[in-house]
Amino acid sequence: MSSLLDFPTCFVCRSVELEIISNDELGLMSLCQECGYSWIATMDDIAPTIIKTIAS
Ligand SMILES: [Zn+2]
Repeated sequence: MSSLLDFPTCFVCRSVELEIISNDELGLMSLCQECGYSWIATMDDIAPTIIKTIAS
């Protein structure tokens, strides 16, 4: 069984401290606050991050 609120984690350092940023060329991207790694965000990345942002 997988949780519905399975927060996305950084591919590099496994941190959950992610931020959604807007990139002019690539659109929405996930940015890791821990190591600075960024990648193109998927809806799976965006939705839980927004929920976390509102909740905190
Ligand atoms: Zn990271």
